[in-house]
Amino acid sequence: MNRCLVNISDLNQYLYCPRRLYYLMFYQTQEINVHLADGRGLHSYQGRRGGWYREFYLKSEHLHLHGRVDLIEQENGVLVPVERKRGTSYYENDLVQLAAYAMLLEEHLGERIATGYIYLYGKNTRHPIEITDHLRRKVVDTVDAIRAMRVGSIPGFCENPRKCAKCSVVVYCMPYEARILEEA
Ligand code: SF4
Repeated sequence: MNRCLVNISDLNQYLYCPRRLYYLMFYQTQEINVHLADGRGLHSYQGRRGGWYREFYLKSEHLHLHGRVDLIEQENGVLVPVERKRGTSYYENDLVQLAAYAMLLEEHLGERIATGYIYLYGKNTRHPIEITDHLRRKVVDTVDAIRAMRVGSIPGFCENPRKCAKCSVVVYCMPYEARILEEA
């Protein structure tokens, strides 16, 4: 992992569960579970079908961020980022990820980007997302939190067992076993 620049996809991982990012960062546990595999397959399928799959690598020393934007579209003469998601809904961590792409893009272009889009494969719908000050602040705060992570300080378990059921590092994290031990 680049200790200076945070990968934008790590923002999403951290906001899903800081402990999950901890394992991905320090234990190299890039296990692909069915949820990840499904998402990757959809990405490549959509790209081939639509012909609009483009990847654009951006980085910013100022923001301490780097990442590859899935798709950039032109709308009324303005470039906007599009983030594509598996499923039928999106969450705040997806909005923060989109905002991070917008912030990188606007630094690269030298102009403000007010809107991005989230595309949901599960419903084949596009959703305009305002890049608000709240989202921008969340990007900065999350980058700071990730850069402060250390191998000797493991974050706690997340509170939502449904997240654990879908988590790609559950076999390393062992939340169920830990809870049984705690209750024994
Ligand atoms: S299994 Fe649960 S607690 Fe552990 S990293 Fe994943 S989401 Fe977080």
